[in-house]
Amino acid sequence: MTHIAVIGAGITGVTTAYALAQRGYRVTVLDRQRYAAMETSFANGGQLSACNAEVWNKLSTVMQGLRWMMRRDAPLLMNPKPSWHKLSWMAEFVREIAHYRANTVETVRLALKAREALFAMAAAEGIDFDLKTRGILHFYRDRANFEKATAVNALLREGGLERYAVTPEEIRAIEPTLAGTYHGGYFTPSDATGDIHKFTRGLAAACARKGVRFIQDADVATITSGEGGYAVGWRQAGHLTGHAAEAPQSLQADAVVICAGCASRHFAAMLGDRVNVYPVKGYSITVNLLTPEAQAAAPEVSILDEAAKIVTSRLGDERLRVAGTAEFNGFNRDIRHDRIQPLVDWTREQFPRVDTDRVVAWSGLRPMLPNMLPKVGRGRRPGVFYNTGHGHLGWTLSGATAELVAGAIAAEHAPERTLLPLAA
Ligand SMILES: Cc1cc2nc3c(=O)[nH]c(=O)nc-3n(C[C@H](O)[C@H](O)[C@H](O)COP(=O)(O)OP(=O)(O)OC[C@H]3O[C@@H](n4cnc5c(N)ncnc54)[C@H](O)[C@@H]3O)c2cc1C
Repeated sequence: MTHIAVIGAGITGVTTAYALAQRGYRVTVLDRQRYAAMETSFANGGQLSACNAEVWNKLSTVMQGLRWMMRRDAPLLMNPKPSWHKLSWMAEFVREIAHYRANTVETVRLALKAREALFAMAAAEGIDFDLKTRGILHFYRDRANFEKATAVNALLREGGLERYAVTPEEIRAIEPTLAGTYHGGYFTPSDATGDIHKFTRGLAAACARKGVRFIQDADVATITSGEGGYAVGWRQAGHLTGHAAEAPQSLQADAVVICAGCASRHFAAMLGDRVNVYPVKGYSITVNLLTPEAQAAAPEVSILDEAAKIVTSRLGDERLRVAGTAEFNGFNRDIRHDRIQPLVDWTREQFPRVDTDRVVAWSGLRPMLPNMLPKVGRGRRPGVFYNTGHGHLGWTLSGATAELVAGAIAAEHAPERTLLPLAA
């Protein structure tokens, strides 16, 4: 049987493994963490949001970013210390402004396909992931921002998304717990929310039932070609300093798929490709809703506040996830109080009766490519594939990109190895 090694057990790696197992491949997933979905796929904003498909490559984003550099609590923060990685990413980001329209429409289409695929996986495998299909509501505090949103809405509709404008009264009817004053909004009834970590863990369990092998605590260090395939080498992760690390181990595969989130750039360089993923940091808080009063005061409908760049998801009765901010600060995962506090303050402002005494803070790194589209498909060398770089929409897009990469693999490697006829 053709053996495929998947590097990374986040949402992209696990959906890829599932799509390959469904097609009859022998699949091994390797991850440096002890469990699946422990890095960026752990506590994100929760939105399955075709409505958030607009790419950020606009001159106005660049100008806004420059203005925000002066504010510590701004939604976007840039560490001014230059690095080649950051500068090259920024230069490519600006170049992609020319493709803003096409890339936005393409992202919507992908998101709509992905939603179907993800729901189908959850239904087939009976995965409970606190799915809520109550739609996503964008709100705007002033006319200027609402009008900008109207222009974006035309592109989202071009991509096939059903989404319509709502008045302040309709906003209150859609989500009665909102306490602010709004000029207007846009509502997407078909968008949804859910817990990415629960889903990924549930799907990983389904993969294991189908025979996928997971090697966890495996810090992959080398991928080398030879003998018609690839040798993947790793060391046991998580040793305390001073412990003798276990001997390196390796396995042989016919092909590899890189789904390593922010580490994908490093693996691509190892394999002769350039996949310029930058780690764009974000934060979330999970507000534990422990009383019936707090539960009644928290929103059921998912919210996106475009000006603050904050999203919410209600995860079951007892949790409200609030996420946002984008920070360009390299591979830094520190949870900064001055970045978490704006999320708490925003929650108090919009939902004053929600208790914020039990709040769990988290930070994660979005694996983002300069054109904001994921890298899906084959690399330069035969047998090398990518499904990575999903940026702020990995949860939203992974259902579709897993199918795409599995299709690309199937085009080059049949699930069953065919034996060449012996020469006479
Ligand atoms: C604050 C925040 C809010 C977000 N909100 C949303 C949202 O509402 N909707 C949405 O669609 N998306 C959202 N996202 C984006 C989404 O969470 C990501 O795009 C997605 O989780 C990325 O998945 P991944 O599989 O590419 O990466 P990861 O989940 O990071 O998985 C990569 C895996 O590779 C493994 N790995 C890396 N290096 C090695 C190595 N050397 N050896 C072995 N294993 C390795 C890691 O351990 C990890 O498990 C948000 C992100 C953030 C940070």
